[in-house]
Amino acid sequence: MTIYERIAEELDKLEAQSNLRRLPHLTHQEKHVVVNGRKMINLSSNDYLGLAADRSLREEFLQQLTVDEFMPTSSSSRLLTGNFTIYDRLEEELANRFGTEAALVFNCGYHANNGILPAVCTSQTVILADKLVHASLIDGIRLSNATCVRYRHNDLTQLQRLIEKHHAQCDQLIVVTESVFSMDGDRADLRALVALKRQYPKVMLYVDEAHAFGLYGPTGLGCAEEESCIADIDFLVGTFGKAAASAGAYLVCNRLLRQWLINKMRPFIFTTALPPLQMAWTLFILRRLPAMGQRRLHLQQLSASLRDALRQRGMECPSESHIIPLMIGPSSEAILRADALQRHGFYLLPVRPPTVPEGTSRIRISLTAALTQEELQQLIKAIDE
Ligand SMILES: *Cc1c(COP(=O)(O)O)cnc(C)c1O
Repeated sequence: MTIYERIAEELDKLEAQSNLRRLPHLTHQEKHVVVNGRKMINLSSNDYLGLAADRSLREEFLQQLTVDEFMPTSSSSRLLTGNFTIYDRLEEELANRFGTEAALVFNCGYHANNGILPAVCTSQTVILADKLVHASLIDGIRLSNATCVRYRHNDLTQLQRLIEKHHAQCDQLIVVTESVFSMDGDRADLRALVALKRQYPKVMLYVDEAHAFGLYGPTGLGCAEEESCIADIDFLVGTFGKAAASAGAYLVCNRLLRQWLINKMRPFIFTTALPPLQMAWTLFILRRLPAMGQRRLHLQQLSASLRDALRQRGMECPSESHIIPLMIGPSSEAILRADALQRHGFYLLPVRPPTVPEGTSRIRISLTAALTQEELQQLIKAIDE
């Protein structure tokens, strides 16, 4: 069978299972999207604070922008000539804000998670990863030489058993988790993980805050700031493409680790650095995050209202955050429910395998601070129908 014959057959199978994906055609109007002529509130993006939908922020940024700062390409990797001063300023700001020795910025979270673990692990490293960690982490683990064992989602009892089992025979154990999980919207218990780490000298912690950066903690640095454990996390990763309305990712760490990654991390070395313009926008947003407490509070209030409403209706709701899945099960049914909610004016999408485990198709509601309480009540009504 040729490659074309095989993939045509596989695509037919995906279609029959309601798991075939297509790129949607859409246009954006602040917090709305227009799809097939229908204008809907966008509840499927990761613009959690509503910053991407906020025109006034972009206007303010543009007003202070000079032609020299409007640099839409770096024309090089950072190790050659792509290391514009804006990179140093952004990394200094990140290290200052997190109170760490150093920070390193990457082109995206996928690169960060793909490159950090392969750069630091040897065959004597054991990675213990939560069953639900993001695909970018799974791919990074696969590229590394480490032995990997997955533990049941958020099951710290099983995690401790695995640490006990592997601790003696390896050089280092790295526990890998997200702080807010991207599909169930629940959270890892960072303090318990730190307490566990303190019992075992070889254990290190790797925490991905992609869905928490900007949203939690007194100045919006994430769950680690909220839980006062930034210094206890060896690899603290976050992304700028979600609540921070930009692009790129960061690691805050010590100087030694930063120096090593600059030398060894392939997705850092072999790529053109993000445009300095993008970095300037990231820094612009980063400096405004501490003062966005009102937006964070509003998002938390919306989230609590929706979670309560679902639970009152007897629906399963694992979420502890602004990511709230409507659990459905079969993919075909999730598609129908998403269509119905779209007819009510809410752009919601079915999330299907392989993004989530087989049989757990759902509608992923991504709340945003741009939503009003009235609009949330309309959403709840639409869910009831
Ligand atoms: C989105 C996401 C990433 C990838 O970040 P990008 O900047 O979009 O590449 C990594 N980890 C998690 C948990 C994510 O949700």
